[in-house]
Amino acid sequence: MKQSDPLSNAAAHAAAFSRELDSMRAGTQVGHAELLGRLGGELPESGLYPERVVDELVAATSDARHGSAGGRFFAWVIGGGFPSAVAADWLASVWDENAAHFAGAPAASVIEEVVGEWLKDLFRLPAEASFALTSGCQMAHFTCLASAREALMRRCGWDVNRQGLAGAPVIRILSGVDRHASVDRALRFLGLGSDSIVTVEADDQGRIHVDALANDFERTKLPTIVVLSAGELNTGSFDRFDQLIPLAKTHRAWVHIDGAFGIVSRSSEQFLPLSDGLELADSWATDGHKWLNVPLDSGLAFVRDRDAHRRAMSVETDYLEPCHSARDAIDWTPEWSRRARGYALYAAIREQGRGGIEKLVDRCCQHAANLVDHVGRLPGVDVAVRPTLNQGLLRFLDPRVDDQGAHDEFTDQVIHRVNQTGEAFFGGTTWRGKRVMRVSVVNWRTSEQDVRRAVGAIERVLHSAAEASRPERLVSQATPTR
Ligand SMILES: *Cc1c(COP(=O)(O)O)cnc(C)c1O
Repeated sequence: MKQSDPLSNAAAHAAAFSRELDSMRAGTQVGHAELLGRLGGELPESGLYPERVVDELVAATSDARHGSAGGRFFAWVIGGGFPSAVAADWLASVWDENAAHFAGAPAASVIEEVVGEWLKDLFRLPAEASFALTSGCQMAHFTCLASAREALMRRCGWDVNRQGLAGAPVIRILSGVDRHASVDRALRFLGLGSDSIVTVEADDQGRIHVDALANDFERTKLPTIVVLSAGELNTGSFDRFDQLIPLAKTHRAWVHIDGAFGIVSRSSEQFLPLSDGLELADSWATDGHKWLNVPLDSGLAFVRDRDAHRRAMSVETDYLEPCHSARDAIDWTPEWSRRARGYALYAAIREQGRGGIEKLVDRCCQHAANLVDHVGRLPGVDVAVRPTLNQGLLRFLDPRVDDQGAHDEFTDQVIHRVNQTGEAFFGGTTWRGKRVMRVSVVNWRTSEQDVRRAVGAIERVLHSAAEASRPERLVSQATPTR
């Protein structure tokens, strides 16, 4: 019997996928029913050789991926994976350690310790801050906001770990109207419901108005968490930290920053001025799996008040041996058994160094600007937001009618048709009441050639729509009216 070697088999599939990624179509057209047909069915009674399982998995799914690891995927904010980070992530699975504590996974634990320090340096965060490697920015928010809740309640003489929330001091949250929904959800997990959030007005880029925040502070004197944004989801804009954080500090508020992708721009000299003052905050949440190009399952929390962070997360049991010289991740994260996710981050930083990450940021921002500018010059295109970082918004105007509703519909149609070409993949959203196409560039693989292909695809879709709307065509195609 042939020796089954699913790892070599998977490596061969992976290498083939990586080679084809630049030429394969962006975006899949395979739907839910088709996939269920291929993958579903009854629970198997008996098993298969591991190699065959891998082959079947690849065969059944290879045309059903959007290619979000590739360079022509501009939807949402996903990011790819640097080659060594992907490889290190495989090894983390093969080694299969539980990175909860040093005693259980010594190497993984030290790797996290090193990575945390490196990242504070790269993002220019205070050296005294503690950190946690989480599953994503969602859980990084949870970790940071749990620390905030602990600290603010302790200041009021309330120990939330012991006393819980019934009868606890009321905490208010001030945050911009465009904040990411993961902030609200983290607060919800912490028993701070949506009624405790006061939404602050923002400008056309999604930046909080300084006066509006000042007014909200004046209204009542409650312990307050201010949640600010480093990289607004649609526009990539930053709140004005240098003005907002000192203001929040005069009211003794805890300032938390959602920097899921934007904090990574702190590695670039060119973009650093945009986030001036960010280092004054109390906690920061970001991702390894977006702009740092580490595979998914990589979030990062940083907390200035390490004691509050530790009190919010740590745990003691008889069966886990605490290590007094090393760092036990279980004391800093909301997880127990956990993936050794430090290896992939370590590899990405070793592969690129500070210089490589700075170049990645500069390059992505340049590509985003070029893409938006080139498309913006085409007839009937409205640049809703020109990138100041790596995100931009485009709107497509219906050549037949000058009407907001028609432009909304036309914009969605253009996105759909561009995605059908397989040349590039984009997503849509509603910004300030109007439908727009989002352009997000966060992948190390995206090249000038990829940008040209995306622009070309959009141009052809617009051209054929304009052709179809020419009066003589309209007349010949029109259905006769009765
Ligand atoms: C993606 C994103 C999040 C959520 O991060 P996950 O890593 O998906 O949990 C939060 N805020 C912003 C601005 C994001 O882009």
